[in-house]
Amino acid sequence: MATPKTPVEPPRRRRIGVLTSGGDAPGMNGAVRAVVRMAIHSGCEAYAIHEGYEGLVNGGNMIRQVHWEDVRGWLSRGGTLIGSARCAAFRERSGRLRAARNMVLRGIDALVVCGGDGSLTGADVFRAEWPGLLRELVATGELTEAQTRPYQVLNIVGLVGSIDNDMSSTDATIGCYSSLTRICDAVDDVFDTASSHQRGFVIEVMGRHCGWLALMAAISTGADWLFIPEMPPRDGWEDDMCSIITKNRKERGKRRTIVIVAEGAQDRNLKKISSYAVKDILSTRLGLDTRVTVLGHTQRGGPACAYDRWLSTLQGVEAVKAILDTTPTAPSPVITIRENKIERTSLMDAVRLTKEVSARIEAKDFETAMNMRDAEFKEYHRAYLNTATPEHPKMALPEGKRMRVAIVHVGAPAGGMNPATRAAVAYCLTRGHTPLAIHNGFPGLCRHHADKPVGSVREVEWLESDNWVNEGGSEIGTNRGLPSEDMETTAWCFEHYRFDALFVVGGFEAFTAVSQLRRARDKYPAFRIPLIVLPATISNNVPGTEYSLGSDTCLNTLITFCDAIRQSASSSRRRVFVVETQGGQSGYIATIAGLAVGATAVYIPEEGIDIQTLSRDIEFLRHNFAHDKGANRAGKLILRNECASSTYTTQVIADMFMEEAKGRFESRAAVPGHFQQGGKPSPMDRVRALRMGIKCMQHIESYAGMSPDEIAADPRSAAVIGVKGSQVLFSPMGGPDGLEAKETDWERRRPKTEFWLELQQLVNTLSGRPTQGTGAEEHPGEGWGCYEST
Ligand code: ADP
Repeated sequence: MATPKTPVEPPRRRRIGVLTSGGDAPGMNGAVRAVVRMAIHSGCEAYAIHEGYEGLVNGGNMIRQVHWEDVRGWLSRGGTLIGSARCAAFRERSGRLRAARNMVLRGIDALVVCGGDGSLTGADVFRAEWPGLLRELVATGELTEAQTRPYQVLNIVGLVGSIDNDMSSTDATIGCYSSLTRICDAVDDVFDTASSHQRGFVIEVMGRHCGWLALMAAISTGADWLFIPEMPPRDGWEDDMCSIITKNRKERGKRRTIVIVAEGAQDRNLKKISSYAVKDILSTRLGLDTRVTVLGHTQRGGPACAYDRWLSTLQGVEAVKAILDTTPTAPSPVITIRENKIERTSLMDAVRLTKEVSARIEAKDFETAMNMRDAEFKEYHRAYLNTATPEHPKMALPEGKRMRVAIVHVGAPAGGMNPATRAAVAYCLTRGHTPLAIHNGFPGLCRHHADKPVGSVREVEWLESDNWVNEGGSEIGTNRGLPSEDMETTAWCFEHYRFDALFVVGGFEAFTAVSQLRRARDKYPAFRIPLIVLPATISNNVPGTEYSLGSDTCLNTLITFCDAIRQSASSSRRRVFVVETQGGQSGYIATIAGLAVGATAVYIPEEGIDIQTLSRDIEFLRHNFAHDKGANRAGKLILRNECASSTYTTQVIADMFMEEAKGRFESRAAVPGHFQQGGKPSPMDRVRALRMGIKCMQHIESYAGMSPDEIAADPRSAAVIGVKGSQVLFSPMGGPDGLEAKETDWERRRPKTEFWLELQQLVNTLSGRPTQGTGAEEHPGEGWGCYEST
């Protein structure tokens, strides 16, 4: 007997809500875009809750379904497009009761909250109360048992959106680097006028009770003095500050004086230190023509920087994954980042730790507060103190431990080379080492030695290097030449100048150079010294690290370029730009820039380009432009790495697209070329240059007093400093497990395993680009044709 067929209800799509709350921050829009698109990609529906918790409490039109194309172009927009508010009602249980009711009525049982510690505290309270709120709603008859049954568990995931970077458990919050960029741009501008008139500037920056922005701004701009809430100055600071500034100006010849004051700055008795009070001290005691600049809300606005765009994108994607992975008993996570690793941390713990820091400061227990901020914060603070003045009598090493440290730049210039050198020099001078700059790389060293014995190697003075704090390029000169071009002379020079250590800043050539010197140690004892590489290259292709100085500067330059050309399409309509990026045989820059600008596709050497891919992309674009919903004015971007294919060049691809578009759209090639190396280094490259430069010097210093043979026997004496996952570490170059043997693809000049390769697929997911078939089946959430890149 045939069983009667019962109609099967299609399963209800899961509804994920997203809101932005508290102070707005650049990058929040990128997070919302990623949550919306990832939710739809995963077969869920996405809902935007407008005006933060206000929308949740009020419901109605403030909770709206969001479609794929609604978030087009959001990556490049500052502020938050779904609005944010401070909501007093949500602080009360009655407000949260209304919020719960609205969520059940709209069928939303998962919430991504992007905000600061206040907003995330609210989220945590809401999650904890949820079962009780549902019971109350049923008991009071506002909802029925049946209505609440499917929503017994509320999934909440936190994203930290805040310019202050005040949340514990994460290195960075969405928005903090954009804000730092704004601050550094402003201070860089003040530099010139400060130097011209020999003026002093007191600059007040935001950050509420957290000194992160102030500390990073001080590092990035070489400020003479810094006030942050976590580390109030000792009593009598007025004399200390005046003494250092006087010495920097009178004895060392520094023409500009910059003092950075965090808005929450205070003394050891919790008495506010205002920027105007600092100015008065400098004016009256030193007779210094001093001005105050309060940067105010300019620090919040403007488009997100590259880091915030990819951070918000990756974290938004991770938030949706966390919702889909979660179990009813799992604690709510907040999505964090440690160095280069996106992680999930307990929301409750992060909130608790954050509050604890404030409580410690209130209790004047500054040491604990500083320790609790996170290990990196303290390290940065110490590193800043090292560079603000060379005068640290207690830090000087005894005579026998002092070294002659040679510094060389190898390869193409990259943002951060100069700040890294400045940090190394400052640290050396603090400790009593002798910093020696080798000018124009290894060829420079060899070329000049015969006729001008001291021409290419010079001791660097503190003031000279201090001015490099925000300079792009390479002040000591960089060169691609390798020691193998004249190993004999290189060794002679090492002996002649009595180098005790070599600090090499550069890209794959720097890595190759140190590999050559290491291998030549048997023949040339002069190379039996610490040989340390700090990766600096826009290509980010050095084995042993996931991050190279200069790559962030390059990404920022690229996104500025891409934003500008995309905007030019708004008047020409339906235009695809094929943008050629640098990067050599590594597609890192193209891929991360692709994520940061919302590219339709990225072509990289690791995958190559074939005719099927091109024809599928043409089909996708044609379909896309035909079915777009008002998107024809938004230019689309395809990023092509310079080495992705020798046949399908950027121009060829642009021409093919033009031809095959059959009038549906236009296509243009755009090549930013060396523009990508950037002007001034980005703040991230500056602060990381400082931290890593100093770590390298500390590593070098650990070999002081060892014999050449002992040094050569230690694999870590020839090493690369790098970010690996959530850590910064030194990886040995030699040995059976060293970078040279295990991790280097010598032929293609890149690491054998590239950590970012999986992000390539994410670019496709977020642009809706099919990678096989027609693509219609790829997006269960919405129909084919709704998908727009950007
Ligand atoms: P931020 O998230 O930037 O730290 P706020 O501290 O102003 O900003 O918090 C934003 C909103 O989060 C508040 O207006 C309120 O609606 C909610 N919120 C903050 N703290 C709590 C709390 N303890 N309980 C419930 N809601 C809270």
